[in-house]
Amino acid sequence: MDRQNPLFGLSGEAKARLLKRLSSRSAAPVETPRLDTASLAGSRELNIVAAAADYLGIDDPFFRVHEGIAGAETIIDGRRYTNFGSYDYLALNGDARIAEAAKAAIDRYGTTVSASRTVSGERPIHRELETALARLYGTADAMVTVGGHATNVSVIGTLLGRDDAIVHDALAHNSVVEGARLSGARRLVFPHNDPDAADRLLREARPRRALIVIEGHYSMDGDVPDLAAFVAVARRHGAWLMVDEAHALGVLGPRGFGLADHAGIDPGGVDIWMGTLSKSLVSCGGYIAGSAALVHYLKRRVPGFVFSVGIAPSAVAAALAALRIVEAEPEHVARLNRHARLFRDLLREGGLDIGGSIGAAIVPVITGSSIRAGKLTAALFARGINAPPILYPAVPERAARLRFFVTAGHSEAQLRETARIVIEESRAVAAEPIDLVGVARHLASD
Ligand code: PMP
Repeated sequence: MDRQNPLFGLSGEAKARLLKRLSSRSAAPVETPRLDTASLAGSRELNIVAAAADYLGIDDPFFRVHEGIAGAETIIDGRRYTNFGSYDYLALNGDARIAEAAKAAIDRYGTTVSASRTVSGERPIHRELETALARLYGTADAMVTVGGHATNVSVIGTLLGRDDAIVHDALAHNSVVEGARLSGARRLVFPHNDPDAADRLLREARPRRALIVIEGHYSMDGDVPDLAAFVAVARRHGAWLMVDEAHALGVLGPRGFGLADHAGIDPGGVDIWMGTLSKSLVSCGGYIAGSAALVHYLKRRVPGFVFSVGIAPSAVAAALAALRIVEAEPEHVARLNRHARLFRDLLREGGLDIGGSIGAAIVPVITGSSIRAGKLTAALFARGINAPPILYPAVPERAARLRFFVTAGHSEAQLRETARIVIEESRAVAAEPIDLVGVARHLASD
């Protein structure tokens, strides 16, 4: 027997040591030389950023593990932080009514619909959510999909072709840009929130068909476009207008119904309302609301819908329950806006650069360099505040910033205390010299 035992002849303690060594060895990833990741696009930049952060003693602020529901407060590594890194604007994540709805949907339909909706994946709650979204936007129909990012990529990529133009804001989300690339359409980029520039671009380009894409509430700056002006530009050129409401639904307007509610104008002027279920609606997925003909077409032509599984029952039920709360309880939206305005005003009075934030939910603190943003995030983290940085290339280097997502769940005391600390630490970071020569030497020595 013992001859067949590979650990034959070893003491109990030595066996345990050997087993530990072997198990840790087998857990290590096997590196294969076949795929040379160093040759991949952006790989060099990743290494440079990591080396510079290492030299400056800045911990990696990304991929931090939150140990429970990340609301106004969150637990990271056993420590409690005031949290400004989650876009749970109405503080509905964990709401018992929403959790119950998601659980009930799992009990009834299971954890997945196991097929594309086109084939066998259609369930009654898909249509219930689509009807509710269409009602909110005053459109004839809507379509929900598994992901917000995928919705923009797949829908824009399908609607436009090589002879067309996509006219979008310089600060458009990556998903819009990727969709435009996929479509092969000519990409015309206008300066942020400048409808006159969009008008000029269309006048000069005279494309066969054009899609203007704007966002309801810009996620990096917390500012909003002039919807009426963009509707007018679209009409003048016979272009379609698409508004990405990812950060607008549940945030803007007295009812939280988004940009049209905020602007007090008829949502019917917009051809394509797009949004995500992952922010105020505390779920996961994307949506389009528009005419019946548009939704009919998209549901049969968009690859991200036709060739992708139907959105999971629990995700649909959670979004639907959250949407009903938004409609029935406008006090959450009012509280969110009160909080965000207070926080924005406190930071502005403290002399910080908060860009064009209207104080609806998103408040950036522009530091002017990625290094300063990294240092400020680290300083705040040490003082119990989680506020992730937005660095180059997500924004231009000079526009590097921290971005605060304020929610209805923060208390006024938390916001005042945080503002005091942010102002104090921002001044300290701004006063510190940045050792660029040292960084360059360190990088050169690598
Ligand atoms: N559009 C905008 C403007 C966004 O900010 C985001 C993501 N934050 C998306 C689309 C993609 O949404 P999701 O994260 O739900 O995929």
